[in-house]
Amino acid sequence: MSKRRPIIGGNWKMNTNAESAVALARGVADGCAGLSGVEVFVCPPFPYLTHVGSALNNAVMLAAQDLYHEPDGAFTGEISTAMLADCGVRAVLTGHSERRHVIGEGDALINKKTRAALNAGLLAVLCVGEKLDQRDAGETDAVNERQIRAGLAGVTPDQMARVVIAYEPVWAIGTGKTATPADAQDAHAKIRAVLTDLYGPEIAGATRIQYGGSVKASNAAELFGQPDIDGGLIGGASLKTADFLDIVRAAAG
Ligand code: PEP
Repeated sequence: MSKRRPIIGGNWKMNTNAESAVALARGVADGCAGLSGVEVFVCPPFPYLTHVGSALNNAVMLAAQDLYHEPDGAFTGEISTAMLADCGVRAVLTGHSERRHVIGEGDALINKKTRAALNAGLLAVLCVGEKLDQRDAGETDAVNERQIRAGLAGVTPDQMARVVIAYEPVWAIGTGKTATPADAQDAHAKIRAVLTDLYGPEIAGATRIQYGGSVKASNAAELFGQPDIDGGLIGGASLKTADFLDIVRAAAG
């Protein structure tokens, strides 16, 4: 494990209800209390942010799945950083693959969201990753590089302390298929090289890069044992308290 503190996030997507979200949050908070060596956040659906926030403790950060970059105004259905902060949110995903490929967000919008999150003092988890056809065409590193450079445009070196990159190959998300630890490590090392080019070796060496894509208790330790993998962003397995806690413990070492 590297000197970077690993970080595990649970992305609940459009799942749970008020009752089950609170129960899940309580279970995760209880299981993480007293665990050191790992940072944990959960991203409930927007309507349950305050419910979940009240069920968490200091061991788990409240995070959001998305935001809108404008401060206020006529943006029906959108949520500002100030609204998130009002709910106790401290971190937010930007550019999740479902936002990119289901909802249709592009790099320019994702960059605005990432900068808005950072300007509001939040931790931004910028998600990148290639689709299957891009992988098959040998474009994995080029796609990651393009998404990183575009997503971080205008982000200052100081702000990089509050940036986490989540490398999530799209073909591995929710499919049960996982990148091999060696393939994931290779992609992470290339992403770190892009960060080095952008911000220098010190900042690149301190930036955490999570892996995401069908992480489960059985593959977590091997993935997190790779030198450039600093924890994971977890979808399906984050909806079951015991499964998620097993993954958290695998990262805590
Ligand atoms: C995700 O939603 O970011 C994710 C990685 O999902 P899953 O773990 O279900 O593949």
